[in-house]
Amino acid sequence: MRRLSVLLLIASGLIFGQGNNMHREIPGFNVACNLYYVGTADLAVYLINTPQGNIMINTDYKQDLPAIKKSIEQLGFKYGDTKVLLISHAHGDHDEGTGVVQKETGAKLMVMDADVGEEENTARGRPGAHVDRVLHDGDTVELGGSTLVAHLTPGHTPGCTTWTMQVRDGSRTLNAVIVGSPNVNPGYILVGNKNYPQIADDYVKTFTVLKGLPCDLFLGAHGAYFGMLAKLDKMKAGASNPFIDPNGYKAYVAERESTFRKEWARQQQNPGSPAP
Ligand SMILES: [Zn+2]
Repeated sequence: MRRLSVLLLIASGLIFGQGNNMHREIPGFNVACNLYYVGTADLAVYLINTPQGNIMINTDYKQDLPAIKKSIEQLGFKYGDTKVLLISHAHGDHDEGTGVVQKETGAKLMVMDADVGEEENTARGRPGAHVDRVLHDGDTVELGGSTLVAHLTPGHTPGCTTWTMQVRDGSRTLNAVIVGSPNVNPGYILVGNKNYPQIADDYVKTFTVLKGLPCDLFLGAHGAYFGMLAKLDKMKAGASNPFIDPNGYKAYVAERESTFRKEWARQQQNPGSPAP
């Protein structure tokens, strides 16, 4: 009985902990070179500062925009200098604010082909934004000497995008990977999905892509993917850049793939039964 209540406490702590972090403000910080984190305690937003203005990846929910703007300004940058706007994937926790940011800054919104429909969707909670440039797998986005590569990592959404870029760290070059999402959400149907028939094959492709990316700086659409808060504490304590974590990246991708494959096998045994 006691054990059960402890488990329940842990479970609710995890759920509510994540909920608290979702909209919780934290100060923006430098990840490496010209790459900054300006999101909430869990919903990641990245700012790439260049001499020709800034690239922003993700906007979170509309209600998180004041916190994001504050982080940008506190780091000494101007929100109005946002020239290019990108997303990890077309879900509200990463893109609900894109229409607003686009209107307020005039930034050009660039989205992976298969997520464009959702980005322009005006249904409740969707951004209803105009996509200025449709991206395809392997396309590059360039601004002021910084180049990002859009890797299609589908499954979580059909146009889910993992962004990579190279940044300088003193004398060396670091490969940054911003994982779009490898997660099978509750309710997802992997077998016999009429709206997204190739969903399982897409996840398989995604893991092949993720395993093939060189990674020094391990980042993602949620801080929880890469243990952001714990790494930030380490950084504040003076550790050498804890976001340089190639082994953490490999372990994360392996764990997510094994979780996906277990769920896929379970659904093959129980067709029509969605992910818990
Ligand atoms: Zn999502």
